[in-house]
Amino acid sequence: MNGVVKIMKNEGKKVIEQARDQDKTKITGKESGKHSFEVDPRSVYKCVQCGTCRSVCPVFDVVGWESANTRGRMLIIKSLLEGRAPSEDVLQSLASCTTCGICASRCPAGANPPEVVEAARTQLIKCGITTEAQEKLKSAVLTYGNSFGETKDRKHWLSETELSKILEKSDYVYFVGCFDSYRYPEFAKKTFGVLQRFGVTLLPDEQCCASPLLRTGFKEDAEKVMQRNLEQIRKMGAHTIITSCAGCYTTLKNNYPEKFRVISLPEFLAEHLEELNLKKLDLTVTYHDPCHLGRHNEVYDAPRKVIEAISTLKEMKNIKENARCCGGGGGVRIGYPDISLELAKNRLQDVPEDVDYIVTSCPLCVRNLRDAGGHIEVIDIVELVAMAME
Ligand code: SF4
Ligand code: SF4
Repeated sequence: MNGVVKIMKNEGKKVIEQARDQDKTKITGKESGKHSFEVDPRSVYKCVQCGTCRSVCPVFDVVGWESANTRGRMLIIKSLLEGRAPSEDVLQSLASCTTCGICASRCPAGANPPEVVEAARTQLIKCGITTEAQEKLKSAVLTYGNSFGETKDRKHWLSETELSKILEKSDYVYFVGCFDSYRYPEFAKKTFGVLQRFGVTLLPDEQCCASPLLRTGFKEDAEKVMQRNLEQIRKMGAHTIITSCAGCYTTLKNNYPEKFRVISLPEFLAEHLEELNLKKLDLTVTYHDPCHLGRHNEVYDAPRKVIEAISTLKEMKNIKENARCCGGGGGVRIGYPDISLELAKNRLQDVPEDVDYIVTSCPLCVRNLRDAGGHIEVIDIVELVAMAME
């Protein structure tokens, strides 16, 4: 156990209390007496409380409280099913799960805690129990179509000339996502630059994919946003959506009510390696598996194939289904920034010696791992590809 974790564990109560102060939990359901709590009991009762997941939950590793641990969350949800009134403590326990899914991959009983947590969050919202951070996020997505509340045009990263060259129709659409549109437009530009060679286009009025709403429990609002994107995909007649964000990927693939082919940027790149004609570079890099690309969807080989075509890959300590979470997902980065950052710092400890870059394939992972400091630059896979195309 590292020093940081020990300090944080001793201060677990303080961290949660600070988060509470920062986030000012609103509890309206408790006051209005709306306590009906419906989550599929079969999923909840699968948990036999063996505690296997205690050793892997990254949030428990930092906070050290049973309520911030998978088993604790499952017990709390069980008690809600059995009539316990939702409360602030319940919200803190459920809202601090990153939905990383490592608990599900280790559970001997076949429970899927992140799925149960998301369903329980939806129920809490129905009971009127929510946090200011969650409300802010919802309002940003519903008002501005992006999770940051940005008012700029979503395609601001393209010039007038570039905009005029976008194909009106194509079978292939690049779904840019909020992060690349507004925080990493340079990734969006590089990604679209590569994809345009293959006749890929953009949606005319892309909206947030709805992942932040779904992961934090705003299911009904998420459905409205998904419909806005779906209408455009239908109109365009596209059959394949390409995403460069792990959150967009899992949402479009697993949560949208209509099915179409969804592939991640690394998968697309791996399929077209020969046509890309990439140079081999004298670089040694490591790769961080984003939870929602790796564990949730088993996209492990494609990014490695792309990286190995360009550079030497030196693996991190915990990889693929054992990869530790960067701390960015599930609304934890917004609701509990201190906890989120500690998770990222813990993940950086898995980085091997003597690598030039930490490569990943999700902008949220890039942001969280960069924020955690460390002496090795964190880059998106498209940046590595761009270096090999120069
Ligand atoms: S979620 Fe699975 S691993 Fe964790 S306590 Fe329950 S049964 Fe055990
Ligand atoms: S999904 Fe991750 S953060 Fe959430 S309970 Fe499971 S291990 Fe912990």
